[in-house]
Amino acid sequence: MQNKTEKKKHITLTSKEISELFAEGIVTIILLLLLNVAVLVVLSSVINSSPSLTDAIWDSKNIFASRLDSDIFWNGRNFILPLFLILDVAVLYWRLIRRYRQMQLRHIISELHYIANGNYDHRIPFELRGDLNRVVSSINGLVDSTVAAIEDERRIEKSKDELITNVSHDIRTPLTSIIGYLGLIEDRQYHSEEDLLKYTHTAYVKAKQMKSLVEDLFEYTKVRQPSVPINMTSFDMVQLVEQLAVDFELEASKKGVQIQTVADAPQLIMDGDTEKLVRVFNNLLTNALKYGKGATQIIIEVGKAGTEAVLVVKNNGEMIPKYALDSLFDRFYRVEESRNQETGGTGLGLAISQSIVALHGGYIYAKSTPQWTSFIIHLPIKRNSAMAKKE
Ligand code: ATP
Ligand code: MG
Repeated sequence: MQNKTEKKKHITLTSKEISELFAEGIVTIILLLLLNVAVLVVLSSVINSSPSLTDAIWDSKNIFASRLDSDIFWNGRNFILPLFLILDVAVLYWRLIRRYRQMQLRHIISELHYIANGNYDHRIPFELRGDLNRVVSSINGLVDSTVAAIEDERRIEKSKDELITNVSHDIRTPLTSIIGYLGLIEDRQYHSEEDLLKYTHTAYVKAKQMKSLVEDLFEYTKVRQPSVPINMTSFDMVQLVEQLAVDFELEASKKGVQIQTVADAPQLIMDGDTEKLVRVFNNLLTNALKYGKGATQIIIEVGKAGTEAVLVVKNNGEMIPKYALDSLFDRFYRVEESRNQETGGTGLGLAISQSIVALHGGYIYAKSTPQWTSFIIHLPIKRNSAMAKKE
């Protein structure tokens, strides 16, 4: 970004350039003097050899002298020499200024090279006048817009990378379910046709979830947009978490954990992007099963506080140390990396969950006591105007 406070300064010539300018001046003066002498010699010989010309000059001198009432201007030497002097000074000034402009141009070019070498936050800082000033401000403007375009591109690239990482992360949960249920069918571990249908149905639902994640990925990566669109619908949160509890039943029972939902009311109709909210719960429930060491219970609570829905996913496993609570939602953060090595996570789940909750205009935090480790989400029940703008 351009440093807008960058102070404008005049171009200061190096001592080499000053001596160059000085030498140019001396050479010009010598050449001009020689030229003056040559012209004088030629002129005097022309005038001397032509008496009529002398008379004409003499006449015009008299006419003008009588007007000006002075002889100073028309005294032979005094008339020619000031004229020569004025011409000489003009030529000297023109030569030197031309040389000076070349030097300014050289300074500008070296600044340009500096910027081209990767110093994109630099701008040509010179205070100039006339055309050169316009050139400099056009160059600075061009660099500004190029840098802005590069940054835009980078931001889009980064958000796409993030999206790809997030979606590939979240695809694992339904995939694990599908493999789990299909595994049961494959091993004929079902007791009735009803069981069989339940397993295939769950696998089918999870496969659809995966498909929509992949579609998201395809959809968002082909468009140039840095923010993830949100697809708000009205839905019943109680029903959603009850379905999730069913989805995780198999995995939980394998670990001897019971999943339960507790709701304040039979229904909580609210606005939200259900696919994304399911991803949040998937992450929280997967974590509870993975990290809630020694847990026997996972409870999903659905409640209401004013205009917000309050959702809690808690387990009665090993507590999270106090120092880690604040960092849990950072990308790639994992508590005691070595202890959790066997679970092989990437530390992205909670960061993704947090960004989805924030996209809904809500917030998420964690609390941990020796009894319960809870992840608490607050979401606006009705989408507000700020949300509508985000869409
Ligand atoms: P990923 O989700 O990317 O596979 P991860 O599960 O390690 O990896 P997060 O979901 O962001 O990453 O969780 C970050 C860390 O928070 C976990 O590594 C774990 O140490 C801790 N954590 C998360 N949930 C719980 C929980 N319910 N009980 C105890 N620790 C937890
Ligand atoms: Mg996780």
